Amino acid sequence: MQFKDKIVVVTGAGRGIGQEIARAFAEGGAKVALISRSESSCGGAAEEINKSHPGSCSAYPVDVSSHDAVLETAKRIAAELGAVNILVNNAGVTRDGLLMRMKEDDWDTVLDTNLKGAFNTVKAFMRPMMKGENSRIINIASVIGLIGNAGQANYSASKAGLIGFTKAVARELAGRAVTCNAIAPGFITTDMTDQLPDNVKEGIIGKIPLATFGTTEDIAQTVLFLASPAARYVTGQVIAVDGGMTM
Ligand code: NAP
Repeated sequence: MQFKDKIVVVTGAGRGIGQEIARAFAEGGAKVALISRSESSCGGAAEEINKSHPGSCSAYPVDVSSHDAVLETAKRIAAELGAVNILVNNAGVTRDGLLMRMKEDDWDTVLDTNLKGAFNTVKAFMRPMMKGENSRIINIASVIGLIGNAGQANYSASKAGLIGFTKAVARELAGRAVTCNAIAPGFITTDMTDQLPDNVKEGIIGKIPLATFGTTEDIAQTVLFLASPAARYVTGQVIAVDGGMTM
């Protein structure tokens, strides 16, 4: 129960990696606010986790790309759960396509969600986190933000931007003992990667030294480490959890 009485916000927690992160914190005794776009998604995920960890999770549907809506949600979370200690920015989308064919809207949607979304939540939650003790911000980036990928100019830029944002926030908030780190997952089995055709998946596995996709638990366990007292002296870092793909 190492997160007992901690208040944790996880964005993109309706499914996949975010839901697993929320479950891991609930298992550790935290009170978790699950954010996703649709009410049915974060509501369903919260209900499912509450079956094994009653009262641990609450759902807050909001579009993280909307600055004002995130501010309103932060006020609700503060009133209903209390001051936030740990913020996990995990909400993310892809709108893949070669640059020649990429529409302006594909660029805007991905940047607004993956990068501006993190700006919005950090702005909304940072004041109480700065007043609290040993607050943590953990951003879920991607190996694609480190190495790029054809067909993902928007996604690569958003995740590289998130890594730069992580380091700037780490420097700005270090004086208040708030750490800010990023995790760069490789290929993890979720709805996002289920969209890939089988021949593409096989090609990717050929480039992963550990020769398999990662699991949502692999990412959740790294998040727990960064949120734990064991990581007190770690800030501004990017931890690749990618089966050795980018070593
Ligand atoms: P996923 O299964 O597609 O789930 C994405 C979650 O983000 C959903 O809960 C979705 O809400 C939420 N979301 C999307 N746009 C949002 C918005 N504007 N406002 C609020 N919530 C929003 O994704 P995943 O595979 O678990 O990935 C999670 C994170 O890890 C993403 O940032 C992704 O880029 C990153 N990542 C994933 C992989 C991978 O291999 N899966 C690899 C590297 C990095 P709804 O449920 O309401 O739609």
